[in-house]
Amino acid sequence: MRTLRAEIIRLLMEHREGLNVREICQLLDLEPEREREVYSHLKAIARILRRKGFRLLMLPPRCKECGFEFNKLRVSKCPKCKSERIEAARFKID
Ligand SMILES: [Zn+2]
Repeated sequence: MRTLRAEIIRLLMEHREGLNVREICQLLDLEPEREREVYSHLKAIARILRRKGFRLLMLPPRCKECGFEFNKLRVSKCPKCKSERIEAARFKID
C-alpha cells in the first residue's frame, strides 16, 4: 500500500523543477482542504530525504507584485505592498 508520504516523495522525484503544495494536491487528487496535511508531511519528508542523502529545498513564498520574499510558509498578503498575489512556496529535491 502506498502512503501519502511515499506518493509525495515520488512526485518530488519526478518533478525536479519543484512543486508547490497546491500542485501536489492536484496531482494526487486531494481536496484543497488537505494542503495543511501536505505541509506537515513535507516536514517529515525533508527528514526522510536527508537520511537518503537528498535535500528538500524550500523556495519561499514570493509577492508577485514587488518580489518580497516571505520567511514563513503560509501567507495571504504582502506586508510591503499589501498585494494578495502571492506565489506559493515551492519544494524541490536537490
Ligand atoms: Zn508585495
